[in-house]
Amino acid sequence: MFRNKPKCSRCGKEITGNEIIYIKMRYPERKGMTEIKAFLNNEGRFICEGCFDGERSATI
Ligand SMILES: [Zn+2]
Repeated sequence: MFRNKPKCSRCGKEITGNEIIYIKMRYPERKGMTEIKAFLNNEGRFICEGCFDGERSATI
Protein backbone atom coordinates (compact mmCIF):
# COMPACT_ATOMS: atom_id res chain seq x y z
CA MET A 1 0.00 0.00 0.00
CA PHE A 2 2.80 2.40 0.80
CA ARG A 3 5.89 2.92 -1.26
CA ASN A 4 8.13 3.66 1.64
CA LYS A 5 8.28 1.92 4.93
CA PRO A 6 6.08 3.96 7.18
CA LYS A 7 7.88 5.59 10.05
CA CYS A 8 6.79 7.77 12.87
CA SER A 9 7.47 11.35 11.85
CA ARG A 10 8.40 12.25 15.40
CA CYS A 11 10.75 9.57 16.68
CA GLY A 12 11.54 7.82 13.39
CA LYS A 13 10.38 4.46 14.71
CA GLU A 14 9.30 2.06 12.02
CA ILE A 15 5.57 1.37 12.09
CA THR A 16 4.92 -2.33 12.41
CA GLY A 17 1.84 -4.40 11.68
CA ASN A 18 -1.14 -4.07 13.98
CA GLU A 19 0.36 -1.06 15.63
CA ILE A 20 -1.99 1.78 16.45
CA ILE A 21 -0.89 4.86 14.60
CA TYR A 22 -2.17 8.32 13.96
CA ILE A 23 -1.99 10.07 10.64
CA LYS A 24 -1.61 13.76 10.36
CA MET A 25 -2.61 15.00 6.94
CA ARG A 26 -4.23 17.78 5.04
CA TYR A 27 -7.68 16.89 3.80
CA PRO A 28 -7.67 16.86 -0.01
CA GLU A 29 -9.25 19.94 -1.49
CA ARG A 30 -10.78 18.43 -4.57
CA LYS A 31 -12.01 14.85 -4.74
CA GLY A 32 -12.20 13.90 -1.11
CA MET A 33 -11.87 10.21 -0.30
CA THR A 34 -10.51 9.14 -3.67
CA GLU A 35 -7.50 11.36 -3.19
CA ILE A 36 -6.78 10.46 0.38
CA LYS A 37 -4.68 7.42 -0.57
CA ALA A 38 -2.47 9.54 -2.78
CA PHE A 39 -2.19 12.15 -0.07
CA LEU A 40 -1.14 9.53 2.43
CA ASN A 41 1.79 8.63 0.20
CA ASN A 42 2.76 12.21 -0.50
CA GLU A 43 1.84 14.25 2.51
CA GLY A 44 0.72 11.85 5.19
CA ARG A 45 2.71 11.87 8.41
CA PHE A 46 2.46 8.90 10.70
CA ILE A 47 2.66 9.41 14.39
CA CYS A 48 3.07 6.46 16.71
CA GLU A 49 0.85 6.18 19.72
CA GLY A 50 3.52 7.20 22.17
CA CYS A 51 4.43 10.36 20.28
CA PHE A 52 0.78 11.23 19.70
CA ASP A 53 0.07 11.07 23.40
CA GLY A 54 3.10 13.25 24.03
CA GLU A 55 2.08 15.73 21.37
CA ARG A 56 -1.45 15.96 22.68
CA SER A 57 -0.45 16.60 26.24
CA ALA A 58 2.12 19.11 25.07
CA THR A 59 -0.31 21.17 23.03
CA ILE A 60 -3.20 21.22 25.45
ZN1 LIG B 1 6.97 8.04 17.55
